[in-house]
Amino acid sequence: MENSMEYYNVAEIFGENVFNDSVMQERLPKKVYQKLKQTIREGKELDLATADVIAHEMKEWAIEKGATHYTHWFQPLTGVTAEKHDSFITAPMENGKVLMSFSGKELIKGEPDASSFPSGGLRATFEARGYTAWDCTSPAFVRQDAAGATLCIPTAFCSYTGEALDQKTPLLRSMEAINKQALRLIRLFGNTTSKRVTPSVGPEQEYFLVDRAKYLKRKDLVFTGRTLFGAMPPKGQEMDDHYFGIIRERIAAYMRDVNKELWKLGVSSKTQHNEAAPAQHELAPIYASANVAVDHNQMVMETLKKVAGRHGLQCLLHEKPFAGVNGSGKHDNWSITTDDGINLLEPGKSPHENIQFLLVLTCVLKAVDIHADLLRESAADVGNDHRLGANEAPPAIISVYLGEQLEDVLTQLVSTGEATHSIKRSVLETGVKTLPDFMKDATDRNRTSPFAFTGNKFEFRMVGSQDSVAQPNVVLNTIVAEAFAEACDYIEQSEDFDRAVHDLIKKYATEHQRIVFNGNGYSEEWVEEAARRGLPNMTSMVDAIPALNTEKAVKLFEKFGVFTRAELDSRVEIEYETYAKEINIEAKAMIDIAGKQIIPAVIKYITSLANSINAVKAACDADISVQTELLVEVSDLLSEAKVALSKLIDVTEQGAAMKQGREQAVFYRDVVMETMTALRTPVDKLEMIVDKDMWPMPSYGDLMFEV
Ligand code: ADP
Ligand code: MG
Repeated sequence: MENSMEYYNVAEIFGENVFNDSVMQERLPKKVYQKLKQTIREGKELDLATADVIAHEMKEWAIEKGATHYTHWFQPLTGVTAEKHDSFITAPMENGKVLMSFSGKELIKGEPDASSFPSGGLRATFEARGYTAWDCTSPAFVRQDAAGATLCIPTAFCSYTGEALDQKTPLLRSMEAINKQALRLIRLFGNTTSKRVTPSVGPEQEYFLVDRAKYLKRKDLVFTGRTLFGAMPPKGQEMDDHYFGIIRERIAAYMRDVNKELWKLGVSSKTQHNEAAPAQHELAPIYASANVAVDHNQMVMETLKKVAGRHGLQCLLHEKPFAGVNGSGKHDNWSITTDDGINLLEPGKSPHENIQFLLVLTCVLKAVDIHADLLRESAADVGNDHRLGANEAPPAIISVYLGEQLEDVLTQLVSTGEATHSIKRSVLETGVKTLPDFMKDATDRNRTSPFAFTGNKFEFRMVGSQDSVAQPNVVLNTIVAEAFAEACDYIEQSEDFDRAVHDLIKKYATEHQRIVFNGNGYSEEWVEEAARRGLPNMTSMVDAIPALNTEKAVKLFEKFGVFTRAELDSRVEIEYETYAKEINIEAKAMIDIAGKQIIPAVIKYITSLANSINAVKAACDADISVQTELLVEVSDLLSEAKVALSKLIDVTEQGAAMKQGREQAVFYRDVVMETMTALRTPVDKLEMIVDKDMWPMPSYGDLMFEV
């Protein structure tokens, strides 16, 4: 099927499986439609009578698309989406036939058994009930796959007592927080027309594609998503010939299929290209409101994986599938926009706009500086530890890249209190506050910065490729809401608006200048410089986790109703648990592979080598020093590997027996991971010596260059 050329009009299929605004407008009674729109606008709860009508129409529409089941589609703290399918059928009638039904109650509320989802102690096991509630700001959709067609209803997931057990709930709360504070801010600047401010998000998704048959021969990839052994191929990414290179036919056919699926689901898949590493690619959609973007990104990840199977491929979303080769991330592009189309991060043309922009910008600087630890934590996942701070993709230190022009304006503000010109432009006849006009980032792009201003948005580049983008956006929305709130508090109390704004810009620019860095974020000098500036450098997830429930974080999140202390504590617990569990699985996979595949293969090789030495000896008097040398070398490496394997078995058992929590996570990071490296090192050397036909799994070269 992958070769059948099929052409279609994107505009015709786009969103065909989405219960979107135009479908609702067409199918719902006018009053019901208006009620729903009002609910969405005001973030209120839907009444049951309205929900009944919507549910009925939604069901009719879904059945026309072939749907037999519906599911509340939610994002528990496992990092992936969860769903429980119910069919539409009701109990058979007397005539033996069934009716298809779907009530308003079933639409707006579900009660999945929550006991097997992580809750970090929030929900005692005896109280297994959890609730899913429809997020009517993210449209329902019909997913068609091998399981048939299913009506998916994006939902939030809470405990019996209302605590968030998912990614969506805090995200919606944080969107409310920034909406409120941003509106307050723009009102002060005289905006009377905008009714809502929404964070917009465009996540760029990186991924690897490998041949599925080869993938299945790599138990490490199957069990953990990354290779736990593997010597570097003779060629890596040093030639830079993959990045933006021509997309091969097999991959192109796959991408075509992915796009079609996504378009049908209303996901605006926009750009695709090859990435830096061999077999690495990227997909970016057009940005959308934060909660829709987060849902869409989950759909992108699911679709990338699902479609790969049809093409005999396997999609690897892990942050570091291959050691020594660039990993994968997700650039979280973020801006704040009003319902009437004003982007608050747009530098603007007039001094009046500039002054509002400069205040917004310096508020972001302040937010990022004060909460750098939280932002870093929001990008922490187990796989991402292999990227952040490991000489690639962004470093683990948070800093902000502004570009030459903006940085210059800030420097002028800090040193003289006024900025009278901007680089590469003549001095402007300024209005109120002698502020210059801006150009969109006129200077070179900085690719090493974890948080870069790119014209009219910020690009947070730390997020891991398989992680949800919810948490980074929860943090961004909330910390910026806090900075806006504090700025508004100050301005509202002062008599002279212009003076107050000017003072704040100068104050924020001065106090938080240390977070601005335009240089090379990968360099060793930056690590030292950042330490001098007092910026946190958390090189592992375990180091980052405590940021979540410091007093500073609790105060922030409680103030804006995003997380309670209990919710934060539970997330901390879950993260430590997740860390230990994932490393535990990796360690056990290594033990399995080394014990059952690698060591037996090496022994076979040794045996054949020894036999051949004996055969040569028996036959003639030839020089057998090479064979003997090899025999010694391989035997030594084998014994080194065996020692490390025994130790790994020990420490893994020790780790698994520990009480869950920080101490256990630290043990896995410091002891278990180190022992894993001790095992990998001799094994990778062995791979370079042992006969390729005897090596029990495909090599890095096979995986990356033969897709
Ligand atoms: P790059 O040059 O980094 O590839 P693009 O312009 O292609 O940047 O955008 C990358 C992502 O950022 C896309 O998903 C795009 O839709 C998104 N994006 C563009 N403008 C905004 C914005 N104002 N707010 C949020 N995301 C945006
Ligand atoms: Mg980008």
